[in-house]
Amino acid sequence: MDSLFAGLAAKEYLTGKFEAKSLPAFFTLLPAHCAEGEQHLRTEAALAFIKMADSAHTAGVYLKAVSTTRSFFRQKTIWEAKWTGLRRVEGRNLGKTRWKASKKAELIMRYSSMPGTSRHHWGTDLDINSVDAAYFNTLEGRRVYGWLIAHAKLFGFCQVYQTKENSGRSGYEEEKWHWSYLPLSVPFTEKYKALVSNQDISGFLGCEAALEIQAVEVYVLGLNSLCIPKP
Ligand SMILES: [Zn+2]
Repeated sequence: MDSLFAGLAAKEYLTGKFEAKSLPAFFTLLPAHCAEGEQHLRTEAALAFIKMADSAHTAGVYLKAVSTTRSFFRQKTIWEAKWTGLRRVEGRNLGKTRWKASKKAELIMRYSSMPGTSRHHWGTDLDINSVDAAYFNTLEGRRVYGWLIAHAKLFGFCQVYQTKENSGRSGYEEEKWHWSYLPLSVPFTEKYKALVSNQDISGFLGCEAALEIQAVEVYVLGLNSLCIPKP
């Protein structure tokens, strides 16, 4: 059994075809003081996040995991709600546009992932405090982000989607809330690059856009270079 992939086939794991709570030997439920609702992370990442949240707390900074591991199936529900117009995307009902698939996909993918391509599938990545960019402009949000920029690295966490300005990074817009536990996510990123192609991204409405927009190259691998160890 390959413990990196929690006993599953690598591709199945990397594309999120499982539920975290069905793998209790590998995933830990975060305690209520640092999580909103039921939030699971891979145990090593969970322990590191709890340590980080406790350390922040002593500095008067409160960290809460608002979104952690999400399966392919959960991501498919989110994606298809946006695709069909059930959920608006930046004020637009995509169910009513006549846009081609790639244009629809690119608008959704400013901030959210195609099923099968999310780092949230891996149990190594989490959203902290709020997924609203405006929160990080408030006094509290600025303090939280400042603390994370200064200290998260000590606990193994890195902001994978930093500002694209002058960074040469492709893919998602800046996400000050999304942090990745590198000791596990680096090997997952490498395996993903080696094993998963755009043709594997399927099984949901609009999946035909994956190849055209180069979902793997542009989005999955569009990372902050500081979060990728130098070879
Ligand atoms: Zn996220």
